[in-house]
Amino acid sequence: MVEVRAVRKSFGPLDVLKGVDLRVAAGEVTVVIGPSGSGKSTLLRTLNHLEKADSGTVTVDGTLVGYRRSGDKLYELREREILRQRTHIGFVFQDFHLFPHLTVVENLTEAPVAALRRSRKEATATALALLARVGLADKADAYPRQLSGGQQQRVAIARALALEPKLLLFDEPTSALDPELVGEVLDVIKDLGRACEVPPSGRTTGPHGHAPARQGTTMIVVTHEIGFAREVADTVVFMDDGRIVEQGPPSQVLGAPREARTRAFLSKVL
Ligand code: ATP
Ligand code: MG
Repeated sequence: MVEVRAVRKSFGPLDVLKGVDLRVAAGEVTVVIGPSGSGKSTLLRTLNHLEKADSGTVTVDGTLVGYRRSGDKLYELREREILRQRTHIGFVFQDFHLFPHLTVVENLTEAPVAALRRSRKEATATALALLARVGLADKADAYPRQLSGGQQQRVAIARALALEPKLLLFDEPTSALDPELVGEVLDVIKDLGRACEVPPSGRTTGPHGHAPARQGTTMIVVTHEIGFAREVADTVVFMDDGRIVEQGPPSQVLGAPREARTRAFLSKVL
């Protein structure tokens, strides 16, 4: 589903990504941990071309992100095409980024109407179903400022889901929250990672008339919540100094890390 190959990125003299390779299979939850400044956010941002890699490629669901290939050359896509690609790659930020002047339900319908050309009626029905899924059915007509941080973040997650993303990226989705609100947001993310029988759009049969094998949403989550990583991740990736130092199932990376740097990091955060 996601294939990152030899991605490098510098800001001036600072090498922030020093050759990152990463593969994420469809339906998998990958949790990225690592010290501050190790390049986690930069990596996440290169996945939807919010940050342009200096070299290397990112492919999501078979499509090259940000570029088109012609022979052995890559040409950057136009802004419009990049925006279109981004509609398939949801991004949930630390500080929510909701539209303050729109109600909750309008926050969820804006992009589907504008980018996916959904009717307002259809977009609203989907939005209300998604709000119910994140436990906020009763807040549809509220404005973001009237919600708690945890509620705002759940709206942001529902908004990302409204575009039916192939991939969902989270950059420290709970680190701006008061401790007592962290759990409700992690629970929503956890729930998305679980396979379920009915897809979020409500379709119960696939193109061939039988129920589709429904995977959980493919997600990459940058977080400092190690307990969440242990519980939810299929793969934990430990980054340090612009490189992936170690990756594997949580039982290995968190339970029996091979690398001294991973052990040193974990001993600080656990
Ligand atoms: P944190 O855990 O603190 O969020 P991080 O692992 O997400 O850290 P990044 O935000 O990817 O780290 O930053 C990696 C390095 O790149 C840092 O030294 C940061 O200062 C630098 N950096 C990030 N974005 C820019 C930018 N736009 N211009 C210059 N330097 C940048
Ligand atoms: Mg960061």
